[in-house]
Amino acid sequence: MAIVIRDAEVITMDAATGSTPVTRSIRIEDGLIAEIGASVTLRDTDTVLNGRDRLVCPGFVNAHTHSWEYLAKGRYDNLPLELWMLYSYPILGAAPLPPDLVRLRSLLFAVESVRSGVTTLVDDVLETPSQDFAQLDAVFDAYDTVGVRANISGHVINRPFIDTVPYAAQWLPSEVAERVRSAPLLSAGEYLDFSAEAFRRYAGRAGGRLRYMLAPSGPQRCTDDLLAGATELALEHDAECHIHVLETKTQAVTGREFYGTTLVEHLRRIGALSANTTLAHGIWATDADIDTLAEYDVCVSHNPVSNLKLGSGIAPWRRYHDAGVTLGLGSDGCSSSDTPRLPEVIKAAALLHKVTGPGHETWPTADEVLRAATLGGARSARLHPDVGSLEVGKKADLLVYDLSTLAFTPRNRLDLQLVYSENGSSLRQVMIGGELVVEDGRVTTVDEDALLAELRERLPGIQAEQDRVERENTVFHEAFERMYRACAAEDVGVHRWSGEPAPVAPGM
Ligand SMILES: [Zn+2]
Repeated sequence: MAIVIRDAEVITMDAATGSTPVTRSIRIEDGLIAEIGASVTLRDTDTVLNGRDRLVCPGFVNAHTHSWEYLAKGRYDNLPLELWMLYSYPILGAAPLPPDLVRLRSLLFAVESVRSGVTTLVDDVLETPSQDFAQLDAVFDAYDTVGVRANISGHVINRPFIDTVPYAAQWLPSEVAERVRSAPLLSAGEYLDFSAEAFRRYAGRAGGRLRYMLAPSGPQRCTDDLLAGATELALEHDAECHIHVLETKTQAVTGREFYGTTLVEHLRRIGALSANTTLAHGIWATDADIDTLAEYDVCVSHNPVSNLKLGSGIAPWRRYHDAGVTLGLGSDGCSSSDTPRLPEVIKAAALLHKVTGPGHETWPTADEVLRAATLGGARSARLHPDVGSLEVGKKADLLVYDLSTLAFTPRNRLDLQLVYSENGSSLRQVMIGGELVVEDGRVTTVDEDALLAELRERLPGIQAEQDRVERENTVFHEAFERMYRACAAEDVGVHRWSGEPAPVAPGM
């Protein structure tokens, strides 16, 4: 049975029409776009959706997020990354989260994501103290049930937490430092074995909709052999290798202190850059770093809402574009950005860079932003042959908006209104691989009310545990605050905070 959407306004993101809305019909068969054009084949058995007063566009790719932070939404404010991590991570240990709670967390995260128009998640999943297959299975099961597409990690940190930042360890009480350093860590071999097993275990899961992804946390948080090995394994499986790089000024100082060079250059030297590598953030990259990323065809996932919330700085949007580096858009985790909803990220990306300088010809265009939210994210996830645009042969991952809502009133430029006016409230249907996962704003695949009721019951225990972690971690605060201030005062050769001299665009 086929589904036909007739005569809708369509943003295809294909090479011919890009983000310019055009009137099209779409025929969907076996989960794929079988035809798209001014008219398409129509049979008696087809389910026909009237496209009148409807805008159809490719589903959004959330190119960097952490479902494991979902239960910490709305807990923190006015903490820079290094201090925020102190409170959100159980540095001194915690009991592993039971798989049924991992599943509940993942289901709720997926529900909120798809209801905002996200059809693909790049979900960098960290479990503490370390991840096991029962926990990872729970994430795969949850996304299989909801019907979302996803790359799922495999997040690993294999250096002691206090040795992933400069300076701070020396200012900690020695018994605290010893306690952190005595916690067991995975070797590179153990992580790569786990990942090789994950590739076998999840191969073809949900018809290939769910894939395992490698995710060494960062070049300062993992050993060189792990970073290089993960890069190689990702290439072997044509999977994504997802690494946090240069999110903060502290990390720019870290590169110099740990390796005597930038973190990007360090990754290059150890063989940890490839076309399968995606860097999350990339804010404090130098011009030479950006050229290196372009040379190795590395993608960058840009997270403007999280970067604003943690005061991390402003990523060099125009420089990445000029160098030819593909950008995706990510929400980051709910503990730092408080939302998995991509429309807010799309709007923030379109707005944020306009304050970086007066050269308005360098500001992000709606086309660039929509491209990052769809094709760019798909490329960063190694899914570009399948998703990111509405073209014959690609998966039918698409969004159907109601154009009779106030957000689209009056109808002027639909692409601009999609970026700046619509916040998800006009979204009526979400299709993933040809399946209607959202209808009339409700997820069809799970009972949302039952999930919320289950969470209400379990929440007091979850919150008490996080309260405990925060109390315990106050022991690190003074040393980390001192380290953060010291790094903030240093010159790292680039300026990514407003209030510092802004980069001047060429020709100005
Ligand atoms: Zn992140």
